[in-house]
Amino acid sequence: MDRPEINADILLVDDEVAIAKGMQRVLESCGARVVLAMDGCQALEKLEERDFDVMVIDLVMPSLGGMEVLERVAEEGLRVVSVVITAHVSLETAVEAMRRGAFDYLPKPFEPRELILRVERALNYRRLRDQAENSLLELNTSRTQLRTIVEAMGDGVIVVNVDGLVVLCNPAACAAVGYGPSLHEPRPLEEVIRSPELRRLIQLDVSSEDGCHAAQSGQIQLGSDIYMVQVFPIETSQAKFLGTVAVLHNVTDLLKAERAKLKFMAKVAHELKSPLAAVQGFLKVILRGPQQSPEQQRDIVLRCSERVEGMVQLVRDLLDLSRSEALPRRNIEPVPVAEVVAEVVEMNEALAADNAVRMTVEVADDLPPLYADREDLFCLLNNLVSNSIKYNLPGGAVRIEARREGEGVQFVVADTGLGIPPEAIPRLGEEFFRVQSPERRGIVGTGLGLSIVKRTVAAYHGRLSVESTPGQGSVFSVWLPSEFQGEGAGGA
Ligand code: ADP
Repeated sequence: MDRPEINADILLVDDEVAIAKGMQRVLESCGARVVLAMDGCQALEKLEERDFDVMVIDLVMPSLGGMEVLERVAEEGLRVVSVVITAHVSLETAVEAMRRGAFDYLPKPFEPRELILRVERALNYRRLRDQAENSLLELNTSRTQLRTIVEAMGDGVIVVNVDGLVVLCNPAACAAVGYGPSLHEPRPLEEVIRSPELRRLIQLDVSSEDGCHAAQSGQIQLGSDIYMVQVFPIETSQAKFLGTVAVLHNVTDLLKAERAKLKFMAKVAHELKSPLAAVQGFLKVILRGPQQSPEQQRDIVLRCSERVEGMVQLVRDLLDLSRSEALPRRNIEPVPVAEVVAEVVEMNEALAADNAVRMTVEVADDLPPLYADREDLFCLLNNLVSNSIKYNLPGGAVRIEARREGEGVQFVVADTGLGIPPEAIPRLGEEFFRVQSPERRGIVGTGLGLSIVKRTVAAYHGRLSVESTPGQGSVFSVWLPSEFQGEGAGGA
């Protein structure tokens, strides 16, 4: 006879040695690895030692019988699949053995092929059971994973079934629609979602009866926030409609940023419009002909050049502003503060001389290393120092100070200039904001310098403060941490 291949570990339990040995031979000839036990006690010992694929066990044995062994196997949840053998087979004993966990039974006397057949069946069962258990386990794990992911998502997720019941509403969605802390059981759509607009968007799909359930989206205001809502149909592989899933993405900040960008662009255009128009006008005058004297022409060209200089400054400030904002290319290194202060002073010497303003510098010797982008620090101090000179009075003074404070460096730029009216202080740092006063007429500026300072300080997690008395002067103080702490909130 053609022996099938049995690649398995088998425990044979029989007190009749001749029968046990006979079965062993048969099974081993099929390739099985067989271990013998002479009674129930021995069988339990072997089962404790290791796992077997199949156990073939005689029901009637001295000391511990087969039924008791089956019971213990079931109690301890062992994975072995049992086939019982008995000479006294009756349907009741077989049923009883199966009730106690046996998979099959084999009445004595039996042919070798019957034994092989039973063992093969038991093995198949074991493999199928293992497979099923594994896929159940996988299914369970992936379900739990999926649930955890959905729960933790920053976007809101709402699932509605065909009966109009909300079956899933993750915490982000609950917060967006203002529904309790969480949803534990299916609840009617009207109860969970109060916004008729959002209900309509989700319900449209639920109630569609023409079999066509297209995905759709819309922008919806929920409380003070605006959400981009996308609704998708849920269908089986046979296109049976099961409900909808809605994903809610909060776009409030995005829209705000978009609006701010447009406003900013409008302001830039506005700032460039008048100097450009002026330059255009001057050029037209010159082009019109030789009616002006060379002095007049020189005067026009000079004014043209001043306006162009203003525009160049605006473009420079715009570049610095964009630098202080999105900063993927910061070159962080220990910056020699004294050197940078000296550079800023040098840069402003001509301006100070023109305005008859005296600068003094005090840089402490014990400054901690300042990890920053050198250009950022230069730009920040240069804006403060040039302001303190520009908005000063002839014969006035500017004091520039750098000293150690806590885990960082404290910079102070103090002047004896025009000062700033108290009502203007909260607006300093607003893009294009300029204080309007008669004494400031003729002072060139873009209204961007302090925005750059403010954003840079925020990006470095530093602190900025202003004290000012109109008519007496202003003190701008900036503290920067010694260590670079990563990008902070620009514009804060
Ligand atoms: P600007 O290019 O106009 O100087 P800033 O953003 O640097 O723009 O400053 C905004 C406004 O704050 C200025 O128009 C000026 O009126 C006021 N300001 C800034 N620094 C000083 C200062 N040290 N003293 C007096 N006023 C100042």
